[in-house]
Amino acid sequence: MSLGVYLHLPFCLSRCRYCAFYSGEPPSRSGELVEFLVIEMGLRVKEGTGPVQTVYLGGGTPSLLTPEQVRHLLRAVDRTWGLDRAGEVTLEVNPADRLPLESFRNAGATRVSVGVQSLDDAVLEELGRRHTAAQARKTLAAAVAAGFASVNADLLLGLPDTTPGELALWVEELVDLGAGHLSLYSLELHPGTELSAAAAQGRFRPSAEALEEAQFRAVVRAAEACGLQGYEVSNFALPGHVCRHNSATWRGEAYLGLGPGAHSFLPGAGPWGTRRWNEPGLDPYLTALGRGKPPPGGGEELTREQALLERLFLSLRCRAAFAPRELATRFGLDPAGTVAAFQALVPKGLFEVLPGGRLRPTWEALRRADGLALGLHERLLGAGPGGASAAGAGAAPGAA
Ligand code: SF4
Repeated sequence: MSLGVYLHLPFCLSRCRYCAFYSGEPPSRSGELVEFLVIEMGLRVKEGTGPVQTVYLGGGTPSLLTPEQVRHLLRAVDRTWGLDRAGEVTLEVNPADRLPLESFRNAGATRVSVGVQSLDDAVLEELGRRHTAAQARKTLAAAVAAGFASVNADLLLGLPDTTPGELALWVEELVDLGAGHLSLYSLELHPGTELSAAAAQGRFRPSAEALEEAQFRAVVRAAEACGLQGYEVSNFALPGHVCRHNSATWRGEAYLGLGPGAHSFLPGAGPWGTRRWNEPGLDPYLTALGRGKPPPGGGEELTREQALLERLFLSLRCRAAFAPRELATRFGLDPAGTVAAFQALVPKGLFEVLPGGRLRPTWEALRRADGLALGLHERLLGAGPGGASAAGAGAAPGAA
């Protein structure tokens, strides 16, 4: 079982018009947060067993840290749990900033994730992004030149003025520039954001579902034509460029989230694992740690039912093959009924059958993962002691 560490750096120089993340703390306070993140590591030392295989500096805008601050944090991770020398260390960067990329790499980052979002300046402006398409291109090329082992580009889907053809060309261009990994996000209109207010007043028109689906299909085709494999519903990588941090999370391995607003999953705490979170807000975080107490937040020990649902959600989002029998053993389900419940979805084109009875979700399944997971969950738990006793009845859970 691996251990990942997520460090949340909630600093941004301005607010993007669609952003509902916890961010926007003043970057002038980054020095304070870095010191208190190290204190939090000391308080949480017993929550994880090292060495740490992956560190993810996310935000916010972690690239507002100095390389020295990044080095300081990574040394603290190493002192606390040990940091695997071959570990993956990802730093999210904003192309609007002057980025000392080579110094970040020398400080220990092995991978950068560039918030490209779009290569259309008018769209970037409408989104309230601080960068231009030219800056995004320049940052990708500079990251490759700085020698990072892997470079990711984030792209947004669901933008009404972006055609599927444009997205396909952008994917080719991003890969040509050296991105070995693509992450897709859907534009969502969250209450309280500027863009959702603009939509309510008719000043912004969200894209139709059919357009977003066409955008997604165009990206998948272009990415595959460039040699990237889709390994999760929103993530594509050249061989050797899969994001180890996120993959471990989707496999249900342990990660410790540190910093205000960060979430953790501790699979060894309780029979089915425990989720823990720190509340957003820099001041309460610093105040509690300053008194030697854990930051405000909460935790929840998962029940068997919750753990099974989470496993289904995550397994159906990823293209990795899994064995229904192993799932049955792990969750105390009837093996034959569990296998039958999954097999019923094969003729519907939702799984490929691999040798040994392992199943690999198809793209169709990935796109419908949430509904399928809910249907399977109900079916697997719904009948008889231990569940799944009637799962072979033939109806396709969630697939209608
Ligand atoms: S850079 Fe990211 S976290 Fe910051 S405001 Fe924009 S979307 Fe939100």
